[in-house]
Amino acid sequence: MEFITLPHTDLRCSRIALGTWSIGGFGWGGMDEAASIRTIHAALDLGINLFDTAPIYGKGAAEEVLAKALDGGRRQRTLIATKCGLDFSRSDGIFTDSRREVILREVEESLRRLRTDVIDLYQVHWPDPLIPAEETGAILHELQKQGKIRAIGVSNFAPAQMASFQKSAKLSSNQPPYSLLERGIEREVLPYCREHGIPLIAYGPLCRGMLSGRMTAGTNFAGDDIRSVDPKFQPPRFSQYLQAVARLDQFAQATHRKRVIDLALRWTLDQPGVGIVLWGGRKPEQLAPVPGAWTWRLTATDFKEADRILAETISDPVGPEFLTPQVRAAG
Ligand code: NAP
Repeated sequence: MEFITLPHTDLRCSRIALGTWSIGGFGWGGMDEAASIRTIHAALDLGINLFDTAPIYGKGAAEEVLAKALDGGRRQRTLIATKCGLDFSRSDGIFTDSRREVILREVEESLRRLRTDVIDLYQVHWPDPLIPAEETGAILHELQKQGKIRAIGVSNFAPAQMASFQKSAKLSSNQPPYSLLERGIEREVLPYCREHGIPLIAYGPLCRGMLSGRMTAGTNFAGDDIRSVDPKFQPPRFSQYLQAVARLDQFAQATHRKRVIDLALRWTLDQPGVGIVLWGGRKPEQLAPVPGAWTWRLTATDFKEADRILAETISDPVGPEFLTPQVRAAG
């Protein structure tokens, strides 16, 4: 395992962290608690020490399962990253909400569900357009001074929002989507974070499973599975993405004797500015690519070839914008 130390802290984090969105079950067709706990234990056995969660993942369930899995002394050797600033209590959608009273309530709820005295990394899940980011930074800075959180991060923030936030808080990370198939941050977010020494915690390295190599045109998404509304997974675009993944898989096998899932992981780890990659697994066997990630690297030619394959196969690319939460009515 490789490690990085988050800026402004002494927190030494594994470069692959376990993400617990799918563990929460909500948006992923339901939860299997026993498998989730086994997955968290398997991650620890592989040297993963950072676990990323959020109140919205399973509406509290992911934080609770994580606490349960870390019982019995495991919490002492792990770092927990969770989030604030999303209202998932309404029936008409998910809304950004970084009002002071909301964050002060959310931090207490997360501490209780996580059964811990301190959150190692507290991240604003999405920027709230109705509240200046500087004000949100000040609230998190206050929580840090009170000892409730150790480090401060943001997620899905644009450079101007980070610049405003940094007026009142020291930023230790930004968590955006980033994978071979979702490159939007390369224009502005990645350069800003590199320039300001803010490590990226990249989410969705498999692009919600698209880069696992396991999807076919006949794959169905049951129940509340988010991919039933994800535009990448709808025809006719789905077949373009499947073709890209098949070509990337052939390339990885021919050049490195690896599969597309390994390529997707290594590609994200190898991007300058990416500190940590979030692996979205909920079954222990899904962690199989992790140990092999450290034994190889991509070359400059590999990056070019991957880009060539993508340009040749995907004529109608689409990003993760469908995940953006709504803005509540002002006032
Ligand atoms: P992802 O890279 O897209 O991976 C999740 C998908 O990969 C799931 O479909 C899973 O399959 C599949 N998968 C995982 N390991 C596999 C394996 N070995 N073989 C085949 N398929 C495999 O990641 P993600 O879940 O979207 O994101 C990762 C984490 O990032 C989340 O858990 C969360 O912590 C964080 N995140 C943050 C935000 C944010 O706004 N800050 C947004 C999204 C995610 P199954 O469906 O079979 O389980």
